[in-house]
Amino acid sequence: MSATRLLTDLRAMGLRVVEEPGWKTRGNNWAVDGEPEGVMQHHTAPPNPFPIKKLYGPPLFRVKANVATHEDGVLFLIAYKACNFSSGRGMSVILRDNIRKSIAPTRNATKRGLKGGNRHFWNFENSHPGDGSVIPQIQLDTIIVATQVVTDHFGMDPEQVISHAEWTSRKIDPNWNGNNRIAIKQIRSGVAGTPPVVQPPPSTDWTEELIMALPTLAKGDGFASEGKAHTRPDVANAQGLLLANGHKDQNSATPESATDGWFGRGTDQSTRDFQTANQLLADGIIGQITWTVLLGQ
Ligand SMILES: [Zn+2]
Repeated sequence: MSATRLLTDLRAMGLRVVEEPGWKTRGNNWAVDGEPEGVMQHHTAPPNPFPIKKLYGPPLFRVKANVATHEDGVLFLIAYKACNFSSGRGMSVILRDNIRKSIAPTRNATKRGLKGGNRHFWNFENSHPGDGSVIPQIQLDTIIVATQVVTDHFGMDPEQVISHAEWTSRKIDPNWNGNNRIAIKQIRSGVAGTPPVVQPPPSTDWTEELIMALPTLAKGDGFASEGKAHTRPDVANAQGLLLANGHKDQNSATPESATDGWFGRGTDQSTRDFQTANQLLADGIIGQITWTVLLGQ
């Protein structure tokens, strides 16, 4: 079992996964024998889509979820290790607090043999208003498939998947497709069954849209203006693609200097070389056609 293995397995199921920086080592050590005892499902409060950084970032840096899902079916990896939910008074105090708060699981939870509290669970925060409204199919499929992968990874069975509402009567989440009882039943039966095929969004549209949104670049872009250095990340991206396509800036000794974000004489030449090699008009201008070939589309 490792974070890397989990990532491989999630991607193998066709999920669109975004790794939040540091997720593999984020979180506390699992309390019991080094493993979570179940998976807990939540919905976030609005705004939707929910800002992922809120689940682990500033100002408090408390880890509130292991993974999150958005309406478009993207799965975000936040922490491989245990979450904590309580206020920021210091780690060990938080953990003791959590144990104290969670000593009374509901009948629903005990029936499933679950008794350890929030920090003993692998937590899913799902971006949804929580008003009982319908959840997008792609998001529900993503939740089911990802929950299946996580339960397999830790050797759990579907009965160890629980809603926050089943854990404590103070909560109503996740509340979609009618109510939280329907929501969690759909997840559990999905996890117990054949994995749904997560339908990726139409792929032609997004590359076309992406390419149309890219700027036209040419010599002089990213150069200092009014005495101020002004390197451009889009120029650096184009330089990186030229380099990856084997067209190195002759004036630059290292990959770092070849992707410095300044469209100078060297970048102009490597652009023309790339265009010539690909039977494009060798004008040194990176527009939609050159971008399309650079991106391998
Ligand atoms: Zn919750």
